[in-house]
Amino acid sequence: MRDNGEVSDLEHLDVLVVGAGLSGIGAGYRLREMSPSRTWAILEARDSLGGTWDLFRYPGVRSDSDMMTLGFPFEPWTDRDAIADGPKILDYLRETADKHGITERIRLGHKVVEADWSSESARWTVTVERGEVREQLTCGFLYLCSGYYDYERPHDPQLPGLGSFDGEVVHPQFWPDDLAVAGRKVVVIGSGATAVTLVPSLADAGAYVTMLQRTPSWIASLPRRDRARDVLQKVLPTRAAGTAARYKNVLGTMGVYELSRRRPAVTRSLLSKGAAKSLGSTDLVADHFTPTYDPWDQRLCVVPDGDLFEAVRSGQAHVVTDTIETFLPHGIRLHSGRELDADVVVTATGLRIQIAGGVAITVDGQARPPGDLTVYRGLMFADVPNLAVCVGYVNASWTLRADLASRYVCRLLNHMQQHAWRVATPRAPAGMVGRPLLPLSSGYVTRAADDLPQQGDGAPWLMRQNYLLDRRDMLRSDVTDAMSFAR
Ligand SMILES: Cc1cc2nc3c(=O)[nH]c(=O)nc-3n(C[C@H](O)[C@H](O)[C@H](O)COP(=O)(O)OP(=O)(O)OC[C@H]3O[C@@H](n4cnc5c(N)ncnc54)[C@H](O)[C@@H]3O)c2cc1C
Repeated sequence: MRDNGEVSDLEHLDVLVVGAGLSGIGAGYRLREMSPSRTWAILEARDSLGGTWDLFRYPGVRSDSDMMTLGFPFEPWTDRDAIADGPKILDYLRETADKHGITERIRLGHKVVEADWSSESARWTVTVERGEVREQLTCGFLYLCSGYYDYERPHDPQLPGLGSFDGEVVHPQFWPDDLAVAGRKVVVIGSGATAVTLVPSLADAGAYVTMLQRTPSWIASLPRRDRARDVLQKVLPTRAAGTAARYKNVLGTMGVYELSRRRPAVTRSLLSKGAAKSLGSTDLVADHFTPTYDPWDQRLCVVPDGDLFEAVRSGQAHVVTDTIETFLPHGIRLHSGRELDADVVVTATGLRIQIAGGVAITVDGQARPPGDLTVYRGLMFADVPNLAVCVGYVNASWTLRADLASRYVCRLLNHMQQHAWRVATPRAPAGMVGRPLLPLSSGYVTRAADDLPQQGDGAPWLMRQNYLLDRRDMLRSDVTDAMSFAR
């Protein structure tokens, strides 16, 4: 294939997108809309699109942020549920990809394992696994929309004596289709978003559920339906209603986050009062729903219409705050001496963070592991040419940031095309001080600290968690700022 006068046997694309989840589909839309003359494809490791929303199949799997902001701005979410279940989100992703001509650009069963940048030829050589077969192609720009966690290996908390347990052990990432829970004793280990989703759903399915947590999480109840959005939908055209509802929710979420950061005591009190009202007990709140940390030191969990509290209040589910001494053949012995009987144990103990989809990145043969890199605008890396990663917010819907990232990438690509530049490399100033990338103390973040890139000490080297500031920056800033270009 021919590119700027060079000839190689390998297929060459202007842009290679890795991953066909929400981010990759959004990237495809923006490439089509904003950079229509570029050649591009999406490589997806799995045999279906949808990423997270196709992988996770546990009972009740759902969003924990509202779909007006988790949906794409170019394809407003119109379903009546503002907090939606996994199958609905997957349908929406499939329909969006079909409608905008993205499905035909996705190559399923293509796992990208290596990417090597050559300064001499100004292109990436990408190695792809297709089952047993390895093949290569080249691209001018590599855009990693590969999510943030390891699809194959979840976090392994090394639960003591687990091997001696005679019942079934299930991880939410690999939920068996045929797992029957009705009438069985199920212990869900964990207190994060997955555990609080699973507990009421398993209880609904007829299980006797115990949520076993080492430490509580802050939990907020949100209405599954958003009545204000319903009104907006009645009085405004679809797109305008989508935009209005998105901004309403952006501002609402930012308000709660800022209040939590500036006046944590106020948020603690509001969340505790909300939980006490739903549970009908202040003792339960004190014992099981009052973390030692402040709200938004770790991600705030959301429960739609207070379903978790309802399950606990009605006695369908129980919460135990304790630590595991050891597993026994019939259950778990806790450090307090108490024993929990279990037929099934669900290890909702978290994901393993993985940046860049596990792709081994090299620049002119030199390895560039993500943990050694500094982010530029939270999407490119210092001294790594023509490569971007698409990551969302930790304190708001992923898509808000992912879409800005894709629009920024298209602006950069267009600038390069206009000026006939082939290479764009962020260059950090000498002596810049590195800082941790994410503002959370959650286990999954601290466990991954060594593998996460850093952010710098000033713009454009910051990873902000603020949609309004990012929006201005990503859509209007000068793409030449701290960027070196070459032909
Ligand atoms: C259960 C659950 C619920 C969530 N709920 C919310 C929520 O309510 N709100 C929110 O904002 N966020 C939520 N998140 C975070 C969620 O992951 C994002 O919202 C969003 O789905 C991420 O989309 P993505 O396309 O970036 O990544 P993913 O959905 O992870 O998709 C990445 C894709 O890239 C592919 N891929 C990865 N590496 C490679 C490779 N090397 N080669 C080829 N393909 C590769 C994967 O197979 C996958 O299909 C949730 C996460 C989970 C696990």
